[in-house]
Amino acid sequence: MAKVVLKSRRARPFWFGHPWVFSGAVERVRGKLRDGDVVDVFDSEGRRVGRGFWNGRSQIRVRMVALEAEGPVDDALFLGRLDRALALRHQVLELPAVTNAFRLVHAEGDGLPGLVVDQVGDWLVVQLSSLGMEPHLDLLLDRLEEALKPRGILERAVGAAEEEGLSRTDGVLRGCAPEGPVEVREGDTRYWCDPVAGQKTGFFADQRENRRALASLARGREVLDTFSYVGGFGLAMAQAGATSVLCVDSSAPALELLKAGAELNGVEDRVTALQGNVLRVLDHDQKEGRTYDLVVVDPPKLVHKRRAVSRGLGLYHEINLKAVRVLRPGGILVTCSCSQHVDAAAFEEMLGSVAKEASVRLQELYRGGQAADHPILLPHDESRYLECRAYRVVPMGAPA
Ligand code: SAH
Repeated sequence: MAKVVLKSRRARPFWFGHPWVFSGAVERVRGKLRDGDVVDVFDSEGRRVGRGFWNGRSQIRVRMVALEAEGPVDDALFLGRLDRALALRHQVLELPAVTNAFRLVHAEGDGLPGLVVDQVGDWLVVQLSSLGMEPHLDLLLDRLEEALKPRGILERAVGAAEEEGLSRTDGVLRGCAPEGPVEVREGDTRYWCDPVAGQKTGFFADQRENRRALASLARGREVLDTFSYVGGFGLAMAQAGATSVLCVDSSAPALELLKAGAELNGVEDRVTALQGNVLRVLDHDQKEGRTYDLVVVDPPKLVHKRRAVSRGLGLYHEINLKAVRVLRPGGILVTCSCSQHVDAAAFEEMLGSVAKEASVRLQELYRGGQAADHPILLPHDESRYLECRAYRVVPMGAPA
């Protein structure tokens, strides 16, 4: 087997299980390396740290699969990891009792680098972004079919795959595709989503715990749900007793599903869908003096690369400032970031500067992240990507 030798003093994170060996940590390689091959990884003193997938095209030169103590990289290892991933969702988190839309496999977080599998109703949706994982996919799909008996397993291609030299396309890997939208439930709320043509795998299950914790804050309140998609927050809030919910998204198909979802829950009289650019809608509302009791801000990933963090934070600032300006005094801001490069400290600092500019104070009501079916395997902090906060927004100065 080919060898990768790490630079002196660069091996420490990998002894502790960090899964990504970047190019800068590699001293030299020995033997013939083909992209996607399993390689042995040694520290500079010749001790074997573990094994992983080599990829010379990627900045992540090795995706570690197993530490030395975890043994060889073989079928048994992958199947064991998959079984453990399913057990977390089924036995530990008992998710099927709560929802039929959740993440079964969260890549590095479940020890299966670059492989994501979501359950979406009776379908499974796969995303693959690691070349080394590709030869093992069929083995894992066989096990998933046998264990879960889905009506079909779909694949949604991801942009990151190309950088790895993978050429994957959207399609049906097993069974059949759904004929139309798929109905899913999460707690007391039902949704329509589209795993074939919708965004990502069709439904954003990572916000489940935040939705559950925050929906009741909307009771008796007028809500604006920006970046609503199929209504993740908006429909849960309408269900929980919001007096009205205006959902804004730029995607017409997402809003069609949202409207149908509102009917599914019997809340269509209190839910309105508006297609448009959130920034423009917020500007318009502010100009017209339209205000709300609660605003949800859940934009798509705004920062894709570390060097783009400060620009991205500027965008978050702009959106949140506009949102705060349409809140009534004492109103509630629910705000999220799904940009991995924006950590909790940077996100909160940005919100602090929004507060200063808007002359308000933010009183924290809730602090959350990605749901537990999107696990973070320490010390892989890069896999922590979702931040969600709720604040009571109080004007500066003496209470009226
Ligand atoms: N809150 C949702 C997920 C939001 S995903 C949930 O809980 O399920 C982000 C959404 O933002 C997508 O639906 C996308 O269509 C929308 N979007 C992206 N840019 C936008 C813009 N400038 N204005 C309005 N919607 C936008």
